[in-house]
Amino acid sequence: MAEFEPAMEQITADTLVVGGGVAGMTTAIETAEVGKDVILIDKMPTIGGRVAASYQYFPKLCPPTCGIEINLRRIRINPHIRVLTLTEVEKASGTPGHYEVQLKISPRYVNDKCTACGECATVCEIERDNDFNYGLDKTKAIYLPHLMAYPARYVVDPKYAGDERMKKCVEACQYGAIELDMKPRVITAKVKAIVWATGWKPYDARKIENLGFGQYPNVITNVIMERLASQNGPTKGKIIRPSDGKEVTKVGFVQCAGSRDENHLPYCSAICCLASMKQATYVRTQYPEADIYVFYIDIRSPGRMEDFYVKVQEDRKIHFHRGKVAKITENPENKNVILEAENTLTGEITRTEVELAVLATGMVPNNVDSPPPLETELDANGFIVPDTNRGVIGTGVAVRPFDVANSIQDATGAALRAINIGARR
Ligand SMILES: Cc1cc2nc3c(=O)[nH]c(=O)nc-3n(C[C@H](O)[C@H](O)[C@H](O)COP(=O)(O)OP(=O)(O)OC[C@H]3O[C@@H](n4cnc5c(N)ncnc54)[C@H](O)[C@@H]3O)c2cc1C
Repeated sequence: MAEFEPAMEQITADTLVVGGGVAGMTTAIETAEVGKDVILIDKMPTIGGRVAASYQYFPKLCPPTCGIEINLRRIRINPHIRVLTLTEVEKASGTPGHYEVQLKISPRYVNDKCTACGECATVCEIERDNDFNYGLDKTKAIYLPHLMAYPARYVVDPKYAGDERMKKCVEACQYGAIELDMKPRVITAKVKAIVWATGWKPYDARKIENLGFGQYPNVITNVIMERLASQNGPTKGKIIRPSDGKEVTKVGFVQCAGSRDENHLPYCSAICCLASMKQATYVRTQYPEADIYVFYIDIRSPGRMEDFYVKVQEDRKIHFHRGKVAKITENPENKNVILEAENTLTGEITRTEVELAVLATGMVPNNVDSPPPLETELDANGFIVPDTNRGVIGTGVAVRPFDVANSIQDATGAALRAINIGARR
């Protein structure tokens, strides 16, 4: 059944899955493939979550298309899954087996006649910051969220739905797909189980003032690096310095940027070391002679990921420096940035000038902005504390900083718990 627009005010299903990232998609698929009805909602105009914004993902370094596309196909053909985008939980009540949930559906301003031909965007005069590329480029006010978007349908930035200039887009659409007078709706879902898979957002690097993000253009974050390296990113896949578009020969990765730090995120996000090593391979592929410096407190590469660490270490131009970067400053003459680090064993202070610095910032659970309902307990950092007696069933990074493989594993467990609740009540 896949993407749908409910005509009725009330819908029923066995399970409601909130969040359509890799964890939510997995839970929805695993639940639906045993014949249970699932409503999968996402607050964004597309499902896919954060993985869709990465260039490649470890361990195999394949593009996100290979994993997400398979899941999307399974969702598309499954009559038991109904996907609702631009949808959030407004209110929920009830007990396991008998929940009533108010779902708020925001207008897309584009109906299901859209063929994603793009004529509307071609004539559109209004531009907006492209949030998918962390504001590094622009899209039109009517846009396709990204190439893998599901549904593959344009959306209007709500800020511009009432703008007179949007009428030109309406006229350009030969399918009559743009409806600028769409209104928000609230519908009721009656479900037996609720799975919360709302994932994460990057830690705001501006808060780590000593590391210069937002102050020096050549200090970027790890999520921005994913977009720079992606062919559908703001630089068409070329890793270049934001200040002047130059190629890079010296790149520094700053591990634990704000993580394991009482002033920022006290916990380890578990993936940042591997993400930086993966990104070092992006740099190496484009620049065979570049020097890459990784500043770390200790490298965390659990289980079989140790093999990846060993392989990266074999690269003679990837230099691992044990040291916490305490300060980043800019060389005003060439806009290079200087990483000042203290070796945590010897106390030695080093200063390394690089053309581009990448801050390995951690994952913050979205629960901190939109906490789950039904007295779900969160820990001090906003992750869901699993509890079989009350609250929602959490999964993925809503519960703990996980990589994709662990998110999938956890989401399969969440599907089983949801099926179990449905079967018992
Ligand atoms: C720089 C970086 C690189 C990484 N690279 C890798 C890698 O190479 N390999 C790997 O295995 N892992 C990698 N990871 C980790 C990977 O991104 C996560 O494991 C994965 O995103 C977890 O999926 P998720 O579904 O839990 O969350 P998400 O991907 O965050 O998906 C959550 C979904 O929920 C939606 N949502 C949020 N709030 C709401 C709400 N209130 N209502 C409805 N919907 C909501 C969001 O729109 C989103 O679609 C990386 C992480 C970082 C920071």
